[in-house]
Amino acid sequence: MALIVQKYGGTSVGSAERIKNVARRIARCQSEGHEVVVVVSAMSGETNRLIALAKEIQAHPDPRELDVMISTGEQVTIALLSMALLDLGLKARSYTGSQVRILTDSAYTKARILKIDEEKLRRDLKDGYIIVVAGFQGEDENGNITTLGRGGSDTTGVALAAALKADECQIYTDVDGVYTTDPRIVPEARRLNTITFEEMLEMASLGSKVLQIRSVEFAGKYRVKLRVLSSFEEAGTGTLITFEEDDKMEQATISGIAFNRDEAKITILGVPDRPGIAYQILGPVGDANIDIDMIVQNVGHDGLTDFSFTVHRNDYANALEILKPVAAHINAREVQGGDKIAKVSIVGVGMRSHAGIASTAFRTLAEEGINIQMISTSEIKISVVIDEKYMELAVRVLHKAFGLDQQP
Ligand code: ADP
Ligand code: ASP
Ligand code: MG
Repeated sequence: MALIVQKYGGTSVGSAERIKNVARRIARCQSEGHEVVVVVSAMSGETNRLIALAKEIQAHPDPRELDVMISTGEQVTIALLSMALLDLGLKARSYTGSQVRILTDSAYTKARILKIDEEKLRRDLKDGYIIVVAGFQGEDENGNITTLGRGGSDTTGVALAAALKADECQIYTDVDGVYTTDPRIVPEARRLNTITFEEMLEMASLGSKVLQIRSVEFAGKYRVKLRVLSSFEEAGTGTLITFEEDDKMEQATISGIAFNRDEAKITILGVPDRPGIAYQILGPVGDANIDIDMIVQNVGHDGLTDFSFTVHRNDYANALEILKPVAAHINAREVQGGDKIAKVSIVGVGMRSHAGIASTAFRTLAEEGINIQMISTSEIKISVVIDEKYMELAVRVLHKAFGLDQQP
């Protein structure tokens, strides 16, 4: 007998029929002799609908109230799924994040899980219940409802698996595993049987929304066995996230291509080229809790240089406002920016042992006339910032250039 945590995403619970289907799947798992804890997302589109509604009332919704509101989507699905399980004659019980007591910090809309009280869940499991927990939500130490950031139900699933020391955490979604890139953009993308944690972390952080990055971090930290599978297919082993690189030896140098349209670029032109300037520019941005991603500083001329960096698009307007007085203070010439950019990244642990990956990538983009605005690299990834309108083209040609296309 194994203890399995199954997480079902929004599309998988998107209608009454689909919820019943999920219930049958859970029933099968239990009938095979396993204990099952289930985490569900809100029905597809629901979280977006709630956020849009909030914005009709307040252009920038109060974060505490927004969390009170958007956490309701998951509360609906846990109850519906429990009903479906009860209807199959099974013992089932639903819990919101607060009812479990998933304790988080107080960073509304992007809270981090600090602790999970798993005693009650263990008792229920012993009594033969299937437990259905609301994903994406928790409460802070003062009992305020918090949410974990978009895609946060993945993290609830993995965190519960870690707390319960589950044998496996299965993430059921609308694709049958992790692909070499988003199969919606590149139909030739291939499913990977395995991907290493390191690569999955990079893919998630660089924009592959199949797993929320924090869920991968959790799984790595607590060594949770994590698998991505389709909720629409009966068979299939999906993609296992592995700790070993051994079985990667035979595989391609590049595992996947990620992309992200959520960033904006800010450039400060004519910055005096002297010590402390980067700190003077980025310090106030960091103080406003705005994360900075890529940074490029050009070689200076005549004591002046240009300084560019990217932030999340949601923080773009705010970052520009903060920088205008800063630029004036340091006697920079001008602040420019744009949010019509995209970041495309190639990821693979094989990069460590292979030269020429960057030049292949740059040549491939050059042949399509795609201009690279910024570059950043690490041991296992190369990212470029390009004009947003070339994003899909760039992903497709890179996918092909690195031999990732499925053979017809
Ligand atoms: P869920 O609602 O189940 O959490 P998501 O929409 O959050 O589902 O994540 C699944 C989606 O992630 C897929 O439909 C796919 O379009 C997208 N995706 C992006 N990159 C990848 C990738 N490399 N492999 C598989 N899916 C990906
Ligand atoms: N419902 C939340 C969202 O849409 C959480 C999730 O689906 O994982 O982001
Ligand atoms: Mg998701």
